[in-house]
Amino acid sequence: MDKCSFCGREKKDTNLLIAGLSGHICDRCIEQAHDIVLEELQKKGDFDVEKIELLKPIEMKEFLDQYVIGQEEAKKYLSVAVYNHYKRLMQTPSKDQEDVEIEKSNIVLVGETGTGKTLLARTIAKMLHVPFTIVDATVLTEAGYVGEDIESILTRLLQVADYNVEAAEKGIVFIDEIDKIARKGDNPSITRDVSGEGVQQGLLKLLEGSIINVPPQGGRKHPDQKMIAVNTKNILFICGGAFDGIVRKIGQRLNTQVVGYSASKDKEQIDRENLLQYIAPQDLKSFGLIPEIIGRLPVLTYLNPLHKEALRRILTEPKNALIKQYNKLFDIDGIELNFEDDVFDYIVEKALEFKLGARGLRSICEAIMIDAMFDMPSNEEKEILITLEYAKEKMGKINIQKLKAA
Ligand code: ADP
Repeated sequence: MDKCSFCGREKKDTNLLIAGLSGHICDRCIEQAHDIVLEELQKKGDFDVEKIELLKPIEMKEFLDQYVIGQEEAKKYLSVAVYNHYKRLMQTPSKDQEDVEIEKSNIVLVGETGTGKTLLARTIAKMLHVPFTIVDATVLTEAGYVGEDIESILTRLLQVADYNVEAAEKGIVFIDEIDKIARKGDNPSITRDVSGEGVQQGLLKLLEGSIINVPPQGGRKHPDQKMIAVNTKNILFICGGAFDGIVRKIGQRLNTQVVGYSASKDKEQIDRENLLQYIAPQDLKSFGLIPEIIGRLPVLTYLNPLHKEALRRILTEPKNALIKQYNKLFDIDGIELNFEDDVFDYIVEKALEFKLGARGLRSICEAIMIDAMFDMPSNEEKEILITLEYAKEKMGKINIQKLKAA
């Protein structure tokens, strides 16, 4: 008599009994096994922290190169910091190493908006397959004020990790607009500064590594929700900010430094066009970050403003470049899309003219492409060439204010 080798049911008691090499399985057991498989997979989520494939810094940079144009210095610093960070995680403590503890290499990226700070952080997380979240420092407030508690950062990380705490504890958090929580003015105690120093103090707790009780759903509305303890020791924090006006502070520092000894020689060597490359921790301090925070962000690097040539490359070169995306969209409808080369120059010129940076490229492309995307899917014609004339005509129609707001 054939029986299920798992539950022992006889063939007549099942809907289906499948024979294997040396046994049988019934439909119920298949379903149950399937549920177990799903459950186990879900537990692991998309993130198997045991299997972080750690590339060498040079390989990491090569990966970043596929998505991010230019920003060589930032890529190099980021690759090394990330490499060291995950090396530190994977290090199994042995007796000889007990006295050498590798410190966490949280990172701060300084550069104008739209130069690729978020993109860099996101690409690194993609490469490592670790949970990644972006938070905006401007919405954070000290506990007890209107806004989000610092813990909400970890709630988001837990959510993207499907509540796999172990994975979240090895994730990456990108804190955008870190410059916006700088202390305003040099005297910290004139007025209580809700969104500045208090938030920095709160962040410090996360950055330095401690066990934080996190409300799984975020918010403060459910006072009796069960908290999840998350250790931030191994979470990598990447902070980004434009730090408007910091170039002036760098300039001032460089000026005062060189006065006194071999002034003329050193001054000559300073590249005044791009002072950001000389950024140092003390500039962040003069900007209003507290020294404790700066100490917890030991890796400091900068991003260059994007000039014409970089913007032009961003349009077509990265793995998911805008133009490649339009090609794919049209391709799905069986339409061949082509651009005249000077259309790209025109798009870049407009982005520069309206001071929209890389982010503006997308809104300009949308403005040029909207009619074609609307009409072509119903059109007999299966080929379209975007000429300079066509692009100019479409741009003539749109409202610049709307572009700027995008
Ligand atoms: P930031 O965080 O510095 O304000 P983002 O990384 O969000 O800027 O950049 C906005 C968008 O502009 C990105 O999604 C990307 O499409 C594009 N972009 C910006 N800088 C670069 C770059 N260096 N290489 C490729 N694309 C870039």
